[in-house]
Amino acid sequence: MEEPRSDATSEKEQVAEEAAFALTGMTCAACAAVIEKTVSRLPGVEAVNVNLASEKMTASFDPAVVAVREIVEAVERAGYGAAPLEEASSAPGAVSEAEDVQRAAQREHERRQQRLLVFSAALSVPLFLISMVPPFMETVPRALAALLERVFGGMWDPMMVAKYLGFVLATPVQLIAGRQFYRGFWHALKQRTGNMDTLIAIGTSAAYLYSTAATFVPALENEPVFFETAALLITFVLLGKLLEARAKGRTGNAIRKLMGLQAKTARVVRDGAEVDLPIEQVVPGDLIVVRPGEKVPVDGVVVEGRSSVDESMLTGESIPVEKNPGDAVIGATVNKLGSFTMRATKVGRDTMLAQIVRLVEQAQGSKAPVQRFADRISAIFVPAVLAAAAMTFLVWLLIVPRFADPGLYAEVTPFVKALLAGTAVVVIACPCALGLATPTAIMVGTGKGAELGVLFKTAEALERLEKVDAVVFDKTGTLTLGKPQVTRTLAFGISDDELLRLAASLERASEHPLADAVVERARSRGLALDKPDSFEAVPGRGVAGSVEGVRVVCGTRKLLAEEGIDLSRAEASVEAFEDSGETVLLVAVDGRLAGLIAVADTIKPESREVVRLLESSGREVYMITGDNARTARAIAEQAGIDPKRVLAEVMPERKASEVARLQDEGRVVAMVGDGINDTPALAQADVGIAMGAGTDVALEAGDVVLVRNDLRDVVSAFELSKATMRKIRQNFVWALGYNTLGIPVAALGLLRPEIAGAAMALSSVSVVTSSLMLKRFKPSVR
Ligand code: ADP
Ligand code: MG
Repeated sequence: MEEPRSDATSEKEQVAEEAAFALTGMTCAACAAVIEKTVSRLPGVEAVNVNLASEKMTASFDPAVVAVREIVEAVERAGYGAAPLEEASSAPGAVSEAEDVQRAAQREHERRQQRLLVFSAALSVPLFLISMVPPFMETVPRALAALLERVFGGMWDPMMVAKYLGFVLATPVQLIAGRQFYRGFWHALKQRTGNMDTLIAIGTSAAYLYSTAATFVPALENEPVFFETAALLITFVLLGKLLEARAKGRTGNAIRKLMGLQAKTARVVRDGAEVDLPIEQVVPGDLIVVRPGEKVPVDGVVVEGRSSVDESMLTGESIPVEKNPGDAVIGATVNKLGSFTMRATKVGRDTMLAQIVRLVEQAQGSKAPVQRFADRISAIFVPAVLAAAAMTFLVWLLIVPRFADPGLYAEVTPFVKALLAGTAVVVIACPCALGLATPTAIMVGTGKGAELGVLFKTAEALERLEKVDAVVFDKTGTLTLGKPQVTRTLAFGISDDELLRLAASLERASEHPLADAVVERARSRGLALDKPDSFEAVPGRGVAGSVEGVRVVCGTRKLLAEEGIDLSRAEASVEAFEDSGETVLLVAVDGRLAGLIAVADTIKPESREVVRLLESSGREVYMITGDNARTARAIAEQAGIDPKRVLAEVMPERKASEVARLQDEGRVVAMVGDGINDTPALAQADVGIAMGAGTDVALEAGDVVLVRNDLRDVVSAFELSKATMRKIRQNFVWALGYNTLGIPVAALGLLRPEIAGAAMALSSVSVVTSSLMLKRFKPSVR
């Protein structure tokens, strides 16, 4: 049994390639599991994820070992269809192309299913009439018997004629419309698993094969048949699948809507003339004219003209935003009344729209941890159900007849009763709705989030957010506007302007918001700034360097103390300023304290309300900052944060360990920051929430990205997480409720198999419909 195979090609160093595929033919969670298993067994495949709701698969594999073609073939061998989605995550244009491929495949599949449904209904309905509805039950077989006697002569028993007719009508349904269930059954069997097809195939075959035997085996001639059960069951299941597919298609609407936002052309200035170019030909640096009512084609910066732009489609912000030269504009937003010229900065897959589409796609394709619960149940369900059905059958066959009132068997034999009860158990117990409970809710939930400008990067983040009990806000730029302004200066021995000029000359080199405030104030006073000869930024402390040959240091007390500068004469003023919420920058020139610059950042107008709402939902709210304790406390007070929960003077690199400390105390922590100097803390937190996707950093950082720079969206994110998780739990109840209630009823012989089939189909439809209700979600604040 030795296999002389060299696996030398699958060495570690290869870079895995990612590919996405559109899948067809899946009927339930077990099918998804079969495909996952099949593909992951291919050599060279590192990871596979199949999403039942979006009917997509992503695989990462080593292209040197396995080709996309082979992956497709493996899926086909397992009995399903796969089509590679090329460039699935690039520009919106390419994404929509891939989407088209998938939609075409789905539509084709749907049309085929529709034809099969009509076919099987056309045969099942007459079959139902002649077997269950009294006037037809009597007249049709009798008339047919008379006709046959006239044509062929001899004696025709109407009861036997009814049986033959049943066989003639039911056989095409069983073999043609029902073939897909046999196929699925067979493929699952090869993988030694079971799925919905297993149960449907077994259930309908039991009814059909028995009835066929009762028709043609002379010894069973007096037994009744129930061809209609098998045929109706198949019809109901097909109907349910079709309704489910329709509803499922709508769960993915959000992405389609996003992709449809992109402009098709742009009016570009080329060689001095304005030309309309397809969007794909726009390159960074192009000057683009945007006229009133037009879409901004790509991301860029306004260079001339002014207008207001409706950004609601990306940010959820309904008030149009003023745009002046120098302001950033985002592709796919809509220009209102003015017109302007912009310079393209990001095109194609780099635009914010493309990035958002990618994020939402990723989230919708990812698996929520709760789904493991459903997967586990699905895995044991099929064998358990078959065992329960066999038990039911045996009890009805061997035990019940001994005790039952003989009247029970006036119409049917114990065997038939047993067969019907067993079949009903098989059918009602199918866990097909269970597999849809999580992914459909995640798709609608993340889609709704995208509409609101609340982007969840993974299903896991959506799930975990609900469990968060401590929310840590970064101060600058998150709780505050992040645009601090100089409020007052206090100079010792030099003029105030000289103090500002020296500090600002140094701060010019820093990118900190505080530095901007100092430079801004110096400029507005018309002071001429110098370039520093040398410059050093001390993160979390301040800046130091040499201006006009003198050493200037500007920053915290600590920074100046380290320089050995005597701060005693400033103590009282510093404390007073800090108590009023101002940040004090101490400035030393040539080794001596030269003055103070007080800077204040205003808290965002919504901060207080957001803190209150989070606390009233039972969460502890913290503030973390590198600023000094006194200023921090004053700001916290304005925001309504408990002073005990203020973490001040935390160096940027220590923020993550403060988050970790809260986690060690047993809290589930969400960190809200701007992603500029708090990326490690965002990563450390159980859920990192990055504000203001206008900056690229924020789109990269965190598990949740808030597109608007509005803190109320933090509350919306929590609410959406809660609503989605509640929906998932509800779906589990819908899905399992049918099964758990239905099994005993079926086992007691009180449920006809075809009714069980209808109930089962209904349970899938109701799960998907219930997920779609999430579209009505409205955040409470905005
Ligand atoms: P935050 O946590 O509020 O974002 P930082 O960690 O960036 O604050 O900075 C902490 C403190 O360090 C500031 O409050 C300020 O006192 C000082 N500081 C940082 N950068 C500068 C700078 N460029 N100029 C002066 N002071 C600075
Ligand atoms: Mg900050």
